[in-house]
Amino acid sequence: MATIPEQQHTRSQRAFERARRVLVGGVNSPVRAFGAVGGSPVIVDRAQGAQLWDVDGNAYIDFVCSWGALILGHAHAEISAALAEQAARGTSYGMTTELEIELAEMLQKALPSMERVRFVSSGTEATMSAARLARAATGRDFIVKFEGGYHGHGDSFLTKAGSGLATLGIAASPGVPQALAQLTLDAPYNDLAAVERLFEKHAKQIAAVIVEPVAANMGVIPPAQGFLSGLRELTRRHGALLIFDEVITGFRLCFGGAQTLFGIEPDLTTLGKIIGGGLPVAAYGGRRDLMEQVAPVGPVYQAGTLSGNPLAMRAGIETLKRLAAPGFYDSLERKSKMLGDLTRQALSETGVAGQVARVGSLLTLFFTANPVDNYAAAKTSDTRRFVSFFQELLRRGFLMAPSQFEALFVAAAHTEDDIRRAGAACRESLAAIVS
Ligand SMILES: *Cc1c(COP(=O)(O)O)cnc(C)c1O
Repeated sequence: MATIPEQQHTRSQRAFERARRVLVGGVNSPVRAFGAVGGSPVIVDRAQGAQLWDVDGNAYIDFVCSWGALILGHAHAEISAALAEQAARGTSYGMTTELEIELAEMLQKALPSMERVRFVSSGTEATMSAARLARAATGRDFIVKFEGGYHGHGDSFLTKAGSGLATLGIAASPGVPQALAQLTLDAPYNDLAAVERLFEKHAKQIAAVIVEPVAANMGVIPPAQGFLSGLRELTRRHGALLIFDEVITGFRLCFGGAQTLFGIEPDLTTLGKIIGGGLPVAAYGGRRDLMEQVAPVGPVYQAGTLSGNPLAMRAGIETLKRLAAPGFYDSLERKSKMLGDLTRQALSETGVAGQVARVGSLLTLFFTANPVDNYAAAKTSDTRRFVSFFQELLRRGFLMAPSQFEALFVAAAHTEDDIRRAGAACRESLAAIVS
């Protein structure tokens, strides 16, 4: 058994105490507080490639990679150089640049359903804006989402949401007016019949169905055969729009979205994370007739001081150029498959009951014997086991999201050696939690 490096956390602990006196809960996004896993949260000093160092100098192989935004890994030399060059030319103008046009053209080409694009600064803004547009375009008020689906923290999306709310056990958020919350309907993921029942019950009242085409905020759950095409058919038949929330899946599984992979054309798409290459960018887009209802062409208002920010556009363009290189996704798939296989092997060698869910470079290990095809099944995972597993991996220098209900992200910067070592650490960690 490999020796486990001795970790010190005194500076991280001091920093977190200081943080808690000024930032709410010491963080700017809840899951970062490590509430679900305990222990001192990682306070980052720097990162390079697949490695991340905390302020105590402990090194980790990072499988969070900014929650999937960094598909190339940290501080890619050419992207950093491009950003430095752009910064010297100005960081924000509040006027249109050619960079925005170029990134939008790249998106339109990769995702032909996005006939018109609007950039915003976060995935939350993208989904909120898409919902507003869907309501305006259909003249209807209800939105259907899926239990355990996460679409940012917009008021319409905080019922039975995945990601941080699932981690903290929050069913819905106070502060969302009842009148609005009532307009969000939840169905179990992969359950077409449930969606059909909602359409029958709320005939001609449903504006849109929003879905993560591969669920990745309740842990990773692939869409069942026929689920996405069924949603396409149902929404068409009932005059509702289909919104693919591809904030995670966009450019994660192939050059394009899950819609490219599954051959389904949504009416509206939201993107984020990868398209900003680690800077704050997201986008929504879709059918021209719909998007042209947005101001200034149409009356649906949406705006942003920093929207289309030149630094962020530059990071997005430079990232997408590298993703378009031949073989990029094959190499990512090879390494991701290797990690999935090693994890399954570790489960069988240690006799731990678990399910490895993997779609491309998105992976989750659920501690349950049940097949996981929706949020209810994901919640049967033994989260106490997850906590022990997380801590054992962290001690060995491997960082994954501090929550059962998130994906692990493989990046291009992970080497085969990183993956082999992660596989070995996984086996040791599983052995440690059952011993
Ligand atoms: C991360 C995420 C969002 C929210 O994006 P933010 O930039 O964090 O606001 C929305 N939808 C999905 C599917 C996400 O994974």
